[in-house]
Amino acid sequence: MTRILALANQKGGVGKTTTAINLGACLAERGARVLLVDIDAQGNATSGLGLDGTAHAGVYQMLVEDVPARECIIPTHQPGLEIIPASSDLAGAEVELVPMMAREYRLKRALEPLDGAYDFILLDCPPSLGLLTLNALAAATEVLIPVQCEYLALEGLSHLAQTLDLVRRNLNHGLRIGGLLLTMYDSRTNLSQQVADEVRKHFPETFQTAIPRSVRLSEAPSHGVSILAYDPSSRGAEAYRALADEVLARDPESSVRG
Ligand code: ADP
Ligand code: MG
Repeated sequence: MTRILALANQKGGVGKTTTAINLGACLAERGARVLLVDIDAQGNATSGLGLDGTAHAGVYQMLVEDVPARECIIPTHQPGLEIIPASSDLAGAEVELVPMMAREYRLKRALEPLDGAYDFILLDCPPSLGLLTLNALAAATEVLIPVQCEYLALEGLSHLAQTLDLVRRNLNHGLRIGGLLLTMYDSRTNLSQQVADEVRKHFPETFQTAIPRSVRLSEAPSHGVSILAYDPSSRGAEAYRALADEVLARDPESSVRG
């Protein structure tokens, strides 16, 4: 079965897109077949993989114009990692979806024909809890929540937890919390340690792996490649490999092993 992971947090700049790209690349490196779906109109996952979302059918065409998902898929530089790109027209989708029938389930329906074709589908969500994020949460089997270690995040997280409860009650009974991921962790600062301790205390499903603050991770997207292509032996690359192993290990049914 395909595991569909939504990378969600209504706060921007917490590492959703960085995680979508690099977790996707590391799962693919481990031999998994991975599809990344860029549902943020900013298209950072698309451009971060060196691709141009305006040159190809993407998430907008799939959600609003019923273009089949298979026609929207493009390969990336990383073997095993493919993407359905975003482009700026996706910003209009939040509004254009409103009058549509079963508007929260457009993404789920669109991805159904791909079931089994991938081990993982990663959904890179926009920084809001709007209709695109609800589509991702309705389609997902798990939600993975990046939390930036430079900011006391608990208030935002309790809002997100309430939304996830509502989603589970109304849209997607089976949605699991795949895990919280500490990002931009800097072991030298008290604040990082404090945020990490608080998050782990409130959310035992937090991953063991914390992603360190690393300039190499922030540089890679401007070269249009994942950290595995940009600096494969960097601390950031090692951290995302460790995360991929944890994600693989959290699935009792998984047959893909590193
Ligand atoms: P989001 O998708 O949640 O808005 P991004 O993944 O785009 O967040 O990250 C926000 C910014 O922080 C980007 O400029 C990104 O390159 C940078 N960044 C993300 N993770 C790290 C990290 N571990 N170390 C350093 N910079 C990071
Ligand atoms: Mg993003």
